[in-house]
Amino acid sequence: MIDTSLDNQKLYEGKAKIIYATADPEVLITYFKDDATAFNAQKKGQITNKGVVNCKVTTYLYTLLEKQGIATHLIRQTSDRELEVKRVDIVPLEVVVRNIAAGSLCRQTGIALGTRLSPFLVEFYYKNDDLGDPLLTRDRIAAMHITSPAQLDQLVDKAQTVNAVLTEFFDACGITLVDFKLEFGVDANGTLLLADEISPDTCRLWDKAESDQRKRVMDKDRFRQDLGGVAEGYQAVLERILEKAIHSD
Ligand code: UDP
Repeated sequence: MIDTSLDNQKLYEGKAKIIYATADPEVLITYFKDDATAFNAQKKGQITNKGVVNCKVTTYLYTLLEKQGIATHLIRQTSDRELEVKRVDIVPLEVVVRNIAAGSLCRQTGIALGTRLSPFLVEFYYKNDDLGDPLLTRDRIAAMHITSPAQLDQLVDKAQTVNAVLTEFFDACGITLVDFKLEFGVDANGTLLLADEISPDTCRLWDKAESDQRKRVMDKDRFRQDLGGVAEGYQAVLERILEKAIHSD
């Protein structure tokens, strides 16, 4: 349940999360909903317990990344569905890292699903629903004054580190990290922080032990492609992470 005392402090409600203000202007609460959307909100639904899974997975992965020197907006998890985070100004870019071809890359280039990408790709999409989150180039980003070339280099550098850390971690969980999306923000001190979430909503995750494409998908593609077992896929990701966490403690 949402803490109703927060109701009049709601700052923003997005497709999957709600952002609340707190008494401290530099601290926000992110509430994770079960609502799911795909294809720029043309497909809508609910995934049972998704908010709880995504909140916990994000907490676990951000804590892991912090240990590897990646600064994030996470302060702490305050309930099953809530994170206390630092307020940031979001850089309006989705930074997508691709290790294996899937999704829009296959649709736009004809590269076959499942093709290993070596070297991996780092791409930028403009966070703008009205424009359908278009793919950008470095030159377009400069022309639009979204970030400076130096800050863009920093984003790429961080995305590469996140990919190295998460690829190794998921591999140890028996999961292939196919691709994922990151968002970044700048805090009151001007520091660039990893923000938003990293979860089965924002990653493609394939079960390493399964070769059947319809069975191996553990992420939001189960919802996008009506593969069934959506909530089970999300839950299985969390269980693999927790199992790995217990064994490495
Ligand atoms: N992604 C995301 N939010 C978006 C778009 C993409 O989290 O608004 C993630 C998506 O889950 C996948 C990766 O970014 O892990 C690459 O997505 P892609 O460009 O292939 O888009 P899609 O096929 O989902 O349209």
